[in-house]
Amino acid sequence: MTKAQVLRSLNYWRGIMSLGDWDIEFEPVDADEFLSEAGIAAYADVTYNVATRSANVKIALKRDKACIQRSIRHELSHLLLADMQDVSNEAAQLLGGEAATLVRSRTSDSGEVVVRKLDRAFDKVLGKAGEE
Ligand SMILES: [Zn+2]
Repeated sequence: MTKAQVLRSLNYWRGIMSLGDWDIEFEPVDADEFLSEAGIAAYADVTYNVATRSANVKIALKRDKACIQRSIRHELSHLLLADMQDVSNEAAQLLGGEAATLVRSRTSDSGEVVVRKLDRAFDKVLGKAGEE
């Protein structure tokens, strides 16, 4: 996909997911993967600031169209959970210590589970649409 096609798809899904209140910046990466903020190999990543409603979606472009589109949906789905993640981060900060680590990791892990379920739901719906 070209950068313009990815941007169009990102804006399309931004509308579908009612993320119009977010200012989303697209950062293309001319590779098949890169190191994420967390320092692990990734195809895509999203970082955001809930207070300013701004996000940065980084996507590796040297993959097939279906993978890139799935990454777009996946990273935008994380934004649907951003407010909850933010509340969890604030609670973790108040708790401090091991409780903070536990709250952060449990929220992050359960958020990833929800996002992956959304991935599968989108795949099923889009797969069926493609069959018709
Ligand atoms: Zn994820």
